[in-house]
Amino acid sequence: MILTADLPQLVVDGVDLIRYPNTQNVLSFSGGKDSVAMYLLAMENGIDFIPVCADTGNEHEITLDYVRNFHLQTGGPAVQIIQADFTEDMRRKRIFIARDHRPKKKLVIKRDDSGTILSKKVKSVRYTNKQKRRILENLYPSDNPFLDLCMIAGRFPSSFAAFCTEKLKRDPIIEQIYLPLLDVGKIVVSWQGVRAEESARRAAYPIFDSPGGGIWNYRPIHQWKAADTFEIMKRHGVKPNALYTQGMARVGCMPCVNCRKDELAEIAMRFPDHIGRIREWERLVTLCSRNGVIATFSHSSKLNDGKMNGIDAVVEWSRTGKGGRTFDFFKSIDDGQSCSSAYGLCE
Ligand code: SF4
Repeated sequence: MILTADLPQLVVDGVDLIRYPNTQNVLSFSGGKDSVAMYLLAMENGIDFIPVCADTGNEHEITLDYVRNFHLQTGGPAVQIIQADFTEDMRRKRIFIARDHRPKKKLVIKRDDSGTILSKKVKSVRYTNKQKRRILENLYPSDNPFLDLCMIAGRFPSSFAAFCTEKLKRDPIIEQIYLPLLDVGKIVVSWQGVRAEESARRAAYPIFDSPGGGIWNYRPIHQWKAADTFEIMKRHGVKPNALYTQGMARVGCMPCVNCRKDELAEIAMRFPDHIGRIREWERLVTLCSRNGVIATFSHSSKLNDGKMNGIDAVVEWSRTGKGGRTFDFFKSIDDGQSCSSAYGLCE
């Protein structure tokens, strides 16, 4: 139990970087318990900091309200909410598809040493005219960064290709917050709410390190237990995000591509509108995929039945007990290692 909220030191060459006048502390704030604990810890220690939240476009309205109004609970700085913008990426993708020329069809014949034909196939074209027409009719900015990113990729992120954290959180924070600070000569200390007890991978992170370029990663609650984060909230009279009392074990995308089976069942029961939104996103992303094969929010290739399963089928499964079909995807994330969380951006 944390009784006094001491800050771990970040001293480099005798300089206390956290309090150095030329440093700007930037705190990644998601609205989850860990980011809230960091915010309060910074306040307790009189640190000057900017809290930043990257809104993925797949957040719950409860979380966005909580983040937007958090400073009213604390008297601290208001959280800056930013979003990725893929308008230019989408324009480039449209041009690429529109200008893509069919290569000549080529017959590829494979033979064994005796000259016997093993296989014959015609080299496939990149985009057929039909595929081009379908994609170009649908690939337009939607005003939602999560959906735009998936439409450009023609697929949803997965535990093995979690490009969402980088593209929707890390990169916008670097481009919109860190780089302008670095341009005016600031040192950036990036506060990340990573705790060792969450997984073996997170336990291996140091309290601080630097990727170079004047940026330092700082993980001040690395040694805290989950209970400590609620304890500091209690000490400050701050309410946690209401989603914790509504069956959610973690706060983040609604749902996260890494959400657990029981969380998905809870989301479907309490927030069916969000499942309906994902259903519509699956339709739109499918229309933007090259082959037009159903793009599924969950990692359908891992299903035991081998079929492509949309969100409704996965929700149906999430309501089953242990006798239900097994989705390896969900099992694989139980150790909390699959979420691309090295940056402490996804809870
Ligand atoms: S890993 Fe989950 S919470 Fe993080 S950006 Fe991706 S979907 Fe959202």
